[in-house]
Parts: sequence; structure tokens; C-alpha cells
Amino acid sequence: MRVYKDKKLTKVVCNNCGKNIKVNNSTIEEGVFFADYKWGYFSKKDGREDTFDLCEKCYDEITEKFLYKINTKNYTELL
Ligand SMILES: [Zn+2]
Repeated sequence: MRVYKDKKLTKVVCNNCGKNIKVNNSTIEEGVFFADYKWGYFSKKDGREDTFDLCEKCYDEITEKFLYKINTKNYTELL
């Protein structure tokens, strides 16, 4: 869950456990998984857009319950 004040990101909260994610000057300073999904015609939620945030701990707990492991690959971050 994201809170904006005057179009600036001021707060990020894990939707699953309620943990406050560290935000400094609109920059998120710890790991957080952000989902933004628009449901399509073939779903029962056509026209609906869902967004949520998960802290890294909840992301790990939820994805570890998957029947099949998630796909991961390494990438180089350009700074
Ligand atoms: Zn959490």
C-alpha cells in the first residue's frame, strides 16, 4: 500500500503484515515487491486494476509455498 502526499511517495506498507517500508525523500530504501495488475477480458475481474506491496519477508514466505519454484535470474543494476 502506497501513500502519496502532494504527488510525493511518503509511505509504503506491506499489505500482508503491515510492516512500514523505509521511505526517504520518495525513495524506497529496502526490498519491496510491488504488484500492479490489470485484469483482462477473460477473467471475472475485467476492467479492474489491483496493486499491492509485499515486504521481502512476506514475499519469501508466500513464494516458498508455491508448488513450483519461481523463475529467477541475475541482472546487473546500472547505477
Ligand atoms: Zn510483510
